[in-house]
Amino acid sequence: MKIICPKCRYEWITKSSHIYVSCPSCLQKVNLNNLDNSFRMKLFQVEILIREFENDTGKKRNKVKLSEIVEWLESKIIKKD
Ligand SMILES: [Zn+2]
Repeated sequence: MKIICPKCRYEWITKSSHIYVSCPSCLQKVNLNNLDNSFRMKLFQVEILIREFENDTGKKRNKVKLSEIVEWLESKIIKKD
């Protein structure tokens, strides 16, 4: 199963069947039962969007404001219309 740490966004694959797994990056314990599937899907979608933003603009997520990402998204939507 693919997991994205809710705390530090580190992404990894686990074969663990335990309820709790530790994030290899920040060692935060992640409760897999709390990450229901719809939330997990949203997390993946946000992660994909942010990566696309980073690739597209060359900016890093920790250096930008959320409003910049929103503006970028809006410009994408306008271009496609
Ligand atoms: Zn983490």
